[in-house]
Amino acid sequence: MAKRNIYKGLNSIKFSRYFRDDNDCLEYLSAIKWYDGYKCKRCDNNKYGSGKKSYNRRCTKCRYDESPTAGTMFEKLKFPILIAFHIIFKIGTKKKGMSSLELSHEFELRQKTCWAFKNKVQQVMKSSLKHPLTGVIHVDEFVIGGHEKGKKGRSKGLKKLIVLALEILENGVGRAYAEVIEHSSAEELGAFLRKYVSQEAEIITDKWRGYAPLKKEFVNLKQIPSEEGSNFKELHIHIMNIKGWLRGIHHHCSKEHMQNYLDEYHFRYNRRSNMTTIFDVLVRKMVDINVNT
Ligand SMILES: [Zn+2]
Repeated sequence: MAKRNIYKGLNSIKFSRYFRDDNDCLEYLSAIKWYDGYKCKRCDNNKYGSGKKSYNRRCTKCRYDESPTAGTMFEKLKFPILIAFHIIFKIGTKKKGMSSLELSHEFELRQKTCWAFKNKVQQVMKSSLKHPLTGVIHVDEFVIGGHEKGKKGRSKGLKKLIVLALEILENGVGRAYAEVIEHSSAEELGAFLRKYVSQEAEIITDKWRGYAPLKKEFVNLKQIPSEEGSNFKELHIHIMNIKGWLRGIHHHCSKEHMQNYLDEYHFRYNRRSNMTTIFDVLVRKMVDINVNT
C-alpha cells in the first residue's frame, strides 16, 4: 500500500506553497479517501478508471463517477476547496483558533458561510473518547455567563453550567475535557466521568455531595475541601483561560453551541505539544466521518 503524504507544520507560507490550488487539495483528499484501496460505492467493484474531473474515480463496471469530496464534509462547499483547507489550517493551528467573523474578513466570505463551515470543523474536534484521562484528575464545575456568586447551592438559572476534568502531572498539567451539564447531580457528573475519565484514575473533587455516590464506581475518587479554590489551583487557571478565550473571540455563544466551543478549545489544548499534525488530523476526520457511515 502506498504511503500517504501527511502535511506537517505550522508555517502558513509553507502551507500555501504545498496547497497551491484546488487540485492539490483534491489529490490530498483522494489519498485519504481511498487509502485502503478503491471500492465502488454502488457495486463494490474494485477497479476504476479516470472520471470526469481530475482525481475522480470511475467504476469500470457500473461507470459510477465518484469525486474525492463525495460523502465527505467537503461535499457541496459554497467556496473553493483551497479556502476550506486554509480555514481548517487556521482554526487548527492558531493558538486561539479563529471566530467566524475573523474568518469572514480574512477569506472574504459571508460570516454565515464561515460559521456553518466552522461548525463542521468543530464536529470533528469532539473527543474520540478512546483515550480517557488517567492518573491524578481534578474535577470541578463552573458557570459561564451572568454573575458567578452563589456557587454554594449550585443552581445556575439561565447561566451555563460546565463540568471540567484536568490531568494533574508531577510537573504541570496534562489533558482536559469539559462538558455542559444541566445540574450538578450524581447522575450527570457520573455520566461525564464515565465518558472521559478512566475508572482507575485518582479523581479529586471538592466536598460537593453530587460526587459522593460515585465513589462506589470510581474507587479512587477522593473528596477534599476546596479551601476557596486553593486546593484546585491548576483547575481554576484552566477555567479562567477558557473564560478569557470565550470572551475574546466569541461574543454571542448560545447554550447549544457552548459544547462545540468547549470541544474546539480542548481539541487544541490536548494537542498543544503536538500541533504540527493537527491539520491532517482534522482533514482526515472530515473525510472519514461520512465514509464510515
Ligand atoms: Zn460500480
